Amino acid sequence: MYDIRGLNEECGVFGIWDHPNAAELTYMALHSLQHRGQEGAGIVCSNGENIFGARGMGLLPEAISQVQLDSLKSYRHAIGHVRYATTGASELSNVQPFIFKHSKGDLGLAHNGNLTNAQQIKLALESNGAIFQTSSDSEVLGHLLLKAKSENKLANLHASLNQIKGAFAFLVLHPESLSAARDAHGVRPLMLGQVDGAYCVASETCAFTAIGAEYIRDIEPGEVLTFSNETPIHEDFYTKQTSSNMCSMEYVYFARPDSEFRKSSIYEVRKSLGEQLAKEMAHIEADIVIGVPDSSLQAAKGFSNYSGLPNEQGLIKNRYVGRTFITPNQTLRERAVRMKHSPIREVIEGKRVIVIDDSIVRGTTSKFIVKTLKQAGAKEVHMGISSPPLKHPCYYGIDVSTHAELIAAHQTVEEIQKELEVDSLTYLSVEGMHDVFKKHHSKGECYACFTGNYPIEIIDQLLPEEKEKKRKGV
Ligand code: SF4
Repeated sequence: MYDIRGLNEECGVFGIWDHPNAAELTYMALHSLQHRGQEGAGIVCSNGENIFGARGMGLLPEAISQVQLDSLKSYRHAIGHVRYATTGASELSNVQPFIFKHSKGDLGLAHNGNLTNAQQIKLALESNGAIFQTSSDSEVLGHLLLKAKSENKLANLHASLNQIKGAFAFLVLHPESLSAARDAHGVRPLMLGQVDGAYCVASETCAFTAIGAEYIRDIEPGEVLTFSNETPIHEDFYTKQTSSNMCSMEYVYFARPDSEFRKSSIYEVRKSLGEQLAKEMAHIEADIVIGVPDSSLQAAKGFSNYSGLPNEQGLIKNRYVGRTFITPNQTLRERAVRMKHSPIREVIEGKRVIVIDDSIVRGTTSKFIVKTLKQAGAKEVHMGISSPPLKHPCYYGIDVSTHAELIAAHQTVEEIQKELEVDSLTYLSVEGMHDVFKKHHSKGECYACFTGNYPIEIIDQLLPEEKEKKRKGV
């Protein structure tokens, strides 16, 4: 969901092959992935010979009408996408899945993530006559596929994927096949499921739950799965040079708590992050622990389990503060935060409160929360953050604010504590976070927004540190 703190989710994808209700199931699955993007949505279907689709701006029911959905009902193969713009303007032309009409055959394309060499490839393709229809980085894969010379579509896909760099979960729909590919570093999630014998893929397993599908497994870094009527599932890798750098923030904040990564429940991972934080905050004395709703409630529960402190509901979230109130202006943003969280005085008054949040971006929300808890009569407010300080922007498809807006990029923990007017402030350590993920079967994570160690080369954009060096002429 678009977050007034400046930490915004990326996109969600879903695909299904050979199901009589492919479009309806895709619609339902996208509904459960709506938290990953609300700017636009689309569904593209294949009838075995051609590709058809519907897409629009806004939430799913606004983006795709019942009439449009009905028009796709007879097709057995579909892909869908919900969009949050991390690159490209917020306009209909950038809403996916994209459809490419070509003499070689139609093509549908859906992408979650961000390519780090898209501009470089785009310039090269344009100088050879390609015309781009959108400002989205995702379009480059379509052009690479159409430019590829082989008659073998899978070979073309492998060759094209080997040219792009970055974080991605791509769905490619040809009239006669559907391919699902995950980037070589496994940054963005992609899962395999099955419903009524038909294979499906999704960014999160909550999409499988929504349509009654069984979650089979995670698609591995560098893996490409292809579904067709000849071969129900073809498992392959487009590269052998893979590593595992799953986005940590998916576990901490973005994914729905009822989803699973590597067969580990996000709900349980968040509880474990809270337990680990409690270990690291053992020196703080308090009466109760509360979580900032909704994404920090599980961490607060884990904190309570480990520390023995009662877990209370001290803050209520107004779920109906929508996008109307989302503005880039700081004063209005503060007003929006005030409308969003409200304290329960009976729980807070006279207590030493530990409040758990999953992250601090600009600090606007945290400052307001501390103030509101104190106004509600809290004797002391101690803040625990279930992730390390966010110091670096994300280039892999998560809109973690610009470097300039990240409070931890410019201030020490002590300075932030002072700024928030909180009695103590503790962030989870990177090591503590890593231990939690290991316990939950992760094979390796990306911590770049905490550490600045980017696992994938950024070709289109210089890293902030490099920009600074360049500015200084170093
Ligand atoms: S930089 Fe941060 S938000 Fe981006 S992929 Fe890595 S962990 Fe996720």
